Amino acid sequence: MSDWIEQQTERRPLASTEHYVLLCLDLANWRTGDVPDLANVAYRRLTTNTADWSLRWATIRTDPTVPVEPRALELGAEMRDVLTRVVEHRNLAALRKRRDASIAAVSVAATRLQVLDDSLQHEHGYAAGTGDGSIALLLAFVLDPKRRFSRQLRRCLLPSCGRFFVVPLGRRGGPVQDYCPGTDHQRQADKLRAPARAKRARSRPSRASARKGK
Ligand SMILES: [Zn+2]
Repeated sequence: MSDWIEQQTERRPLASTEHYVLLCLDLANWRTGDVPDLANVAYRRLTTNTADWSLRWATIRTDPTVPVEPRALELGAEMRDVLTRVVEHRNLAALRKRRDASIAAVSVAATRLQVLDDSLQHEHGYAAGTGDGSIALLLAFVLDPKRRFSRQLRRCLLPSCGRFFVVPLGRRGGPVQDYCPGTDHQRQADKLRAPARAKRARSRPSRASARKGK
């Protein structure tokens, strides 16, 4: 197995929104036992200018003894908190207020403009910084009803997991995806519920006989 993971985002216009939100999920989902440098790299990229191609390339060290920057974990915990409120539709007005109050801290610049056929292609660069800017930018993306993240964001229902993920859109009437894709988390959750169901079923006749004995 390689000791290095090379990460690269695709070079295509308007990719920075998706890129930014997915990095936020990386950080919010990170927990002890995951590759430590994953959190460091996500943190560094979220708090610097997303338009800078050299920063969009990252080499993640898979060495498990790499120390995790405490600031990365703090920001991850904060993102976990706001994302939980978003998926539970809890206190959204307060989140919007927080976004609006700190969005000035985020600088946005179009870094490349080109005319392709009839359309203007452009790339945005976001420099969120280390303060409330990165939270504000995350909220701007996930709370914007015109962006797909407001409909795509999910949180895994397996109690021991609770990771955030985005689901593909466009399959109306399909099964609702409530568990991490590509894992057995749904099966684990079903297993957890099975004994509780059996216990409920067993307890019913005993309650009836207890009443009879009175
Ligand atoms: Zn899960």
